[in-house]
Amino acid sequence: MAKIVTDVVCPFCGTLCDDLEVKVTDDDKQILEVYNACVIGTEKFLHSQAKDRLKVPMKQDEEGNWSEASINEAVEYTAQMLAKAKKPLMYGWSSTNCEAQSVGGEIAELCGAVVDNTATVCHGTTLIAVQDVGVPSCTLGEVKNRADRIIFWGCNPAHAHPRHMSRYSIFPRGFFTGKGHKARKMIVVDPRTTDTAKMADIHMQLEQGRDYELLSALRVALRGAPLPEKVAGIPRETIIDAAETLKSGRFVVIFFGMGVTQSLSKNHNIDIAIMLTKDLNEHTKAAIMPMRGHYNVTGSGEVLGWQFGYPFSVDLSRGFARYNPGDSSSNDLLRRDEVDAVFVLGSDPGAHFPISSVKKIANLPSVCVDPHYTPTTAVCKLHMPVAFVGVEVGGCTYRMDAVPIHARKVVDAPEGMLTDEEFLKLVLKRIKEIKGVA
Ligand code: SF4
Repeated sequence: MAKIVTDVVCPFCGTLCDDLEVKVTDDDKQILEVYNACVIGTEKFLHSQAKDRLKVPMKQDEEGNWSEASINEAVEYTAQMLAKAKKPLMYGWSSTNCEAQSVGGEIAELCGAVVDNTATVCHGTTLIAVQDVGVPSCTLGEVKNRADRIIFWGCNPAHAHPRHMSRYSIFPRGFFTGKGHKARKMIVVDPRTTDTAKMADIHMQLEQGRDYELLSALRVALRGAPLPEKVAGIPRETIIDAAETLKSGRFVVIFFGMGVTQSLSKNHNIDIAIMLTKDLNEHTKAAIMPMRGHYNVTGSGEVLGWQFGYPFSVDLSRGFARYNPGDSSSNDLLRRDEVDAVFVLGSDPGAHFPISSVKKIANLPSVCVDPHYTPTTAVCKLHMPVAFVGVEVGGCTYRMDAVPIHARKVVDAPEGMLTDEEFLKLVLKRIKEIKGVA
């Protein structure tokens, strides 16, 4: 017999879909089918069932040979590494729940670590811009029910947030948007003709790296001031047409992604996009929202915010929290040889950091905590397998619009498998013993 678990939350992207249904065996051991999720979300659930899944900790010796370790050994190695390091880096946190993130923050404080999340290579620039100029934003529910002008700037939800358009931004029939996509105009700004751009009413195919100029030009066009014939490769008429389309809407929302956060001008692209949003509010209602990537990267920023006052790149090495991205951010620290141990949880810097940083991790005492064997595992000295958050353990997660949603447990983890939170609590307890802290 099988049963259906309803209202399941997808632990993959920042859309954090909470309408999934999962067919499981009635002993709660195995997932049979996943309904309502996109292909990426479905794969995340099914992948947890892999027969060759890593179930015991693995340690790597100096010759690169791997051998099994006990959970006690994994806890001891991790606790000794963090307690003895002068300035350990504790990185990741975007693919786990807030409960685990908060224990991680406690360990970081006790060990004088730098605690940083994946925003450092993603929407960290957005957070800096928001600190500089503020942000007029909203929730995805408001987008669904009210927004009739949608901009996707430097993002491609058709591939990266596959159900964003169908759940919130383009297709749903909301309270005041009863005609669904027919009630909305869609503008895409991207140098490439992406699958999202193919659906747009206006595609501004700008020259790469010239977003700041085009955002400035849109501000000029909103004021009705003169523009040159072309800006960033876009004809004046197209820019004026886009500005008029936005002005004529009842509610404009600008969604933006890594095309602007990680291209030339970085946080200044976001500053001016926020200023454009503020300008639009003189004509109509407008809001702006980052397309946050991992399902709980927002949660990591929230938890660090409660604990230390800063959302990422928090340096606790002097016994109080300091925040200075560019100085206290992971890649900068690794490249300058300023950290002497690396702890990674819920992220894969081995695959996503520049090779210069990955080489540094390979030469340091290091631990990778992840349900999967990843490229980060390959450069770490110890791999600790854990339960999948959102599949085998629930917990608090935050959607891209900072709405908290409680993820559900769907099936049991393999016998003996700890959760991130359980492992971190054991490490914290042992660090307290080593440091003689009550
Ligand atoms: S859109 Fe994102 S959250 Fe929704 S099912 Fe797909 S991967 Fe999961």
